[in-house]
Amino acid sequence: MKKYVLVILFLIFILPIPSMGDNGSFNTISGIWWCSDSSSCLHEMGHRLDWEANWYSNKPEFRDIVSSYLTAEIKKSPSDMAGNIMVFLVADANQNGASGTTLEIMTYNGTYVYNPTRFTSAELYANIFAWSDGKAENMPEAFRKFYDFRRADELIEKYAR
Ligand SMILES: [Zn+2]
Repeated sequence: MKKYVLVILFLIFILPIPSMGDNGSFNTISGIWWCSDSSSCLHEMGHRLDWEANWYSNKPEFRDIVSSYLTAEIKKSPSDMAGNIMVFLVADANQNGASGTTLEIMTYNGTYVYNPTRFTSAELYANIFAWSDGKAENMPEAFRKFYDFRRADELIEKYAR
């Protein structure tokens, strides 16, 4: 009996436990995920790539690139990717509460400059991968160095067909 309890506790620890309304989930300890549609599968795969790379999303360089990418995009006509990132950052800031997240929106020559200093970067990392359909050619060049596309192709081949 005791053995079963331990096994169940272990499984709860390593499995991506579904919660209501989710289409996927990733366990950051075991690297195991589940997903129910192609965009959430790409999202969870993004987490897996991040996990295998020892959390690229956590590196200051990744945050800096997000910030400089948005600043450059906003000066021209922002791409869909930039729009998606901005929507994510605003939603993320709201979810984390204004005190938890600093999202500075400044007016600069009549245009907005977004300078996110704190955001849930692991989620954005996975989203950028999914928004690009897991393909380097769909991803803005600035972000490509953070993703192992050879590994991504293997994962897509194995799980998303
Ligand atoms: Zn996620």
